[in-house]
Amino acid sequence: MLTPAFKYGACTFEGLRGYQDAALKEVHVFRLREHLDRLRFSMHVMRFDDPPPDEAMRRALRELIRANRIAGDCHIRLMVWVDGDGEQTATGPIGWGMAALPRDADPRVREGIHVAVSSWTRIGDNAMPPRIKVTANYNNGRLSGLQAKTDGYGGVILLTASGHVSETPGACVFIVREGRLITPSHTDDILESITRATVLELARDELGIAAEERPIARTELYAAEEAFLCGSGNEIQPILSVDRLKLGDGQPGPVTRRVQQVYFDAVRGALPARRGWLTPMLGGAAP
Ligand code: PMP
Repeated sequence: MLTPAFKYGACTFEGLRGYQDAALKEVHVFRLREHLDRLRFSMHVMRFDDPPPDEAMRRALRELIRANRIAGDCHIRLMVWVDGDGEQTATGPIGWGMAALPRDADPRVREGIHVAVSSWTRIGDNAMPPRIKVTANYNNGRLSGLQAKTDGYGGVILLTASGHVSETPGACVFIVREGRLITPSHTDDILESITRATVLELARDELGIAAEERPIARTELYAAEEAFLCGSGNEIQPILSVDRLKLGDGQPGPVTRRVQQVYFDAVRGALPARRGWLTPMLGGAAP
């Protein structure tokens, strides 16, 4: 209990997904390299001594999935923390571990969710940088999530200290206006989300939908024709209303459905040009 990971939240992590490829009898982890790169960046900013090598984590992940006989869709959590019983500025010794749990399709992906704008403010880059995935950051999301849950919402969007739309406690936000996608910039206190980058790339290259990264004001959420949130865990979830103001006709919109389709095609290996994003865990080459 005296470890800095508990005492001070000195723990970096990643949440990843594995997807079943029924035809190949395979489980593929989506964008493993990008998750390991981001984890390395989080550890770098937190000045961890002696971070575990990528190769060791890749090997352990493969062994974990095989040993647990996971053959279907799963969610993976990878954590690296400051162990021992050191003080606040301790940078080692380093402990690490991972877990993989089967995860079925989430009904919110099909049905969508109603979200609120939180009265809590998003943590800022100069205080607790959201660009790094450190467990301590997640108390900001927890407070806003608890408030939204108490108030009967399925999700919540946080605003930055200057009032721009930032992100949800565990996902990034896109809105649709005049058929174009708009998402907050990296300077609006968001995690540099791998799913956000995936959506931007697929929208542009596969769907021919223009996308913009720029500040979004709160009331622009209300003006959106459609909106959705995206993340490795949440995947692509349509937002049906914000602060009980209906978006469009209050149903998942056509642009959101197209983005969902192309995203699930990518994670399941149905886009040949994007198979490089998939790392096989079972019978394929070593990850
Ligand atoms: N924002 C936050 C705060 C998150 O925790 C996550 C989930 N890791 C995301 C956005 C989405 O990031 P990614 O697409 O890389 O999973």
